[in-house]
Amino acid sequence: MAASTLRFFRARVSGITDVTPTFRRFTFAGADLGDYGDPGFDQRIKIVFPTATVGLDAMPIDDDWYTRWRDMAEAERPPFRTYTTRFVRNDEREVDVDMVAHDVLGPASDWIARATVGDEVLILAPTTAHTGVSYGIDFVPPAHTESILLAGDETAAPAIAVILEQLPAEARGVVVLEVPHPDDAAYLPRHPGFEYRVGARGDGGRHAYLVPEVEQAADRLAPEGRGGEVEEIDIDTETLWEVPRTAKGGAALKRATLYSWLAGEAGAIKALRRHLVAERGVDRRAVAFMGYWRLGKAEN
Ligand SMILES: Cc1cc2nc3c(=O)[nH]c(=O)nc-3n(C[C@H](O)[C@H](O)[C@H](O)COP(=O)(O)OP(=O)(O)OC[C@H]3O[C@@H](n4cnc5c(N)ncnc54)[C@H](O)[C@@H]3O)c2cc1C
Repeated sequence: MAASTLRFFRARVSGITDVTPTFRRFTFAGADLGDYGDPGFDQRIKIVFPTATVGLDAMPIDDDWYTRWRDMAEAERPPFRTYTTRFVRNDEREVDVDMVAHDVLGPASDWIARATVGDEVLILAPTTAHTGVSYGIDFVPPAHTESILLAGDETAAPAIAVILEQLPAEARGVVVLEVPHPDDAAYLPRHPGFEYRVGARGDGGRHAYLVPEVEQAADRLAPEGRGGEVEEIDIDTETLWEVPRTAKGGAALKRATLYSWLAGEAGAIKALRRHLVAERGVDRRAVAFMGYWRLGKAEN
């Protein structure tokens, strides 16, 4: 029987490494991290950050935590944001999370800029007791997939990295990644079956590399469909998140010529959704569209 188990882990920073100009790796250590579960691929987690005025002890951590957190006065709530598990070393009771060191605009970026060894966070993640489908994993390709398109901006890079490391050697596909700095290209691990299209954000601004590159890759790899209706989503008030699954959580299709996983700033994902679904007519049961964050809008 499947058991889905999530819990908060208290963890302290034991190492900070700048992997590239944009990606800062935080190694967390904690007595309980031997129980930190790693269901794989793009497993998402929540990290609770202490602020100057609210400590971690204020965070409700029982099963009803979200309702209790929502009921708290805003000034008393510890903020949390969504991240991706990068590496888990249960034997050493350590977990790595790669965080984008972007301008300080919110509680996570503020913490990332100032954190030092010894600082503490809470991480909401699965435990090793977890079995079966993880709804925190959104990379759910059909069992028979000829090629895979992985695309996103820097916030999606940690998830893309884990997916590439965990796919079998015979997998085939294309990665399109837009990053802030040319040296960030070194961040992604190499998979022998993937073509890499990694571009630094230039004068054209955000998405100027990502969107046309993904459109070209999809036009090349996806069988042409009939063009479909696409409901407009107001990305300033709604979350753009479409991950095709069966009721049991598995892949929505048994086979696909192309399976696409697209994540990043919601404006880019919205443009790609319109191109792929409305203009190109790709089967949306073979595309995961995830607006990971929205320019100008805090996550919570
Ligand atoms: C499933 C999932 C997995 C994710 N995994 C990762 C991960 O592994 N590593 C990672 O670094 N991020 C990841 N993110 C993105 C991360 O959650 C957001 O960037 C988050 O908003 C940062 O919080 P903040 O407190 O800095 O800013 P917020 O308080 O949320 O927002 C404040 C302001 O900052 C802006 N902002 C937020 N993020 C960025 C950014 N990256 N660049 C520029 N401006 C930004 C917002 O538009 C807003 O104007 C993930 C998001 C999701 C949904």
